[in-house]
Amino acid sequence: MKYIGAHVSAAGGIENAPVNAAVLGATAFALFTKNQRQWKAKPFTAKNIDLFKENCAKYGFTPQQILPHDSYLINLGHPETEGLTKSRDAFLDEMMRCEQLGLSLLNFHPGSHLKKVSEEQCLTTIAESINLSLDKTNGVTAVIENTAGQGSNLGFRFEHLAYIIDKVEDKSRVGVCLDTCHTYTAGYDIASEEGYRKVFDTFDSIVGFHYLKGIHLNDSKKELGSRVDRHDSIGKGLMGIDVFRRLMQDNRFDNMPIVLETPDDSIWAEEIKLLTAMTDVKQPI
Ligand SMILES: [Zn+2]
Ligand SMILES: [Zn+2]
Repeated sequence: MKYIGAHVSAAGGIENAPVNAAVLGATAFALFTKNQRQWKAKPFTAKNIDLFKENCAKYGFTPQQILPHDSYLINLGHPETEGLTKSRDAFLDEMMRCEQLGLSLLNFHPGSHLKKVSEEQCLTTIAESINLSLDKTNGVTAVIENTAGQGSNLGFRFEHLAYIIDKVEDKSRVGVCLDTCHTYTAGYDIASEEGYRKVFDTFDSIVGFHYLKGIHLNDSKKELGSRVDRHDSIGKGLMGIDVFRRLMQDNRFDNMPIVLETPDDSIWAEEIKLLTAMTDVKQPI
């Protein structure tokens, strides 16, 4: 079963997110559990939590179909104490918010070395940050997203993801989310038929498909290997439509949230319909 959706708004209350997803005809969704550009957030009320759970049940969203995303401000690999402490506190708060909502995944960008420490040192710090938050929470898996490798962001090589996972103590609560745009602009050619096969074989041998917990499905405005993160609508960017058809017919991506972060939210319902059709019909890939 493919669960397909988009990163929907939770404006006006967290309980609105599942409703916004249902309107799109989605079977998965992503959301921010707090304002993604602010450090602090008001705690949920009991009513928020009850209504969120009620709406998820009403529209058929189970925790394995929901992929919350953390704040953009958090850097779990921050090279300086103050920034690292602030990030770790905020991340723990986000993990706890997921726990309160009964959710099982939290997706985040691994972190940046800000040109102040080595890649290895930064990756080690990220793993330590994950360990600290897993120690203090229950039932929520930390889902590391691969990046395009802009600036000093790490996570653009599968080896980075594997390095972090290797240092996480509770392997049952760490996972990976692959963003198709980031994968492509990081230099992995998933757009060609041969490349698709090779890249995912490489991913399987370096990281392992059993760690894959979700997909961000985006086309790219920027070239293969450009290390620039600019999403495009499905089939409108440089990746072409075939990669998305292959992915929709590939059972290695079953039973996990597949989430659009494409720029034109007015066509999300159409994109979801198109992708769903690709799973139904056995089209030549
Ligand atoms: Zn993404
Ligand atoms: Zn991105």
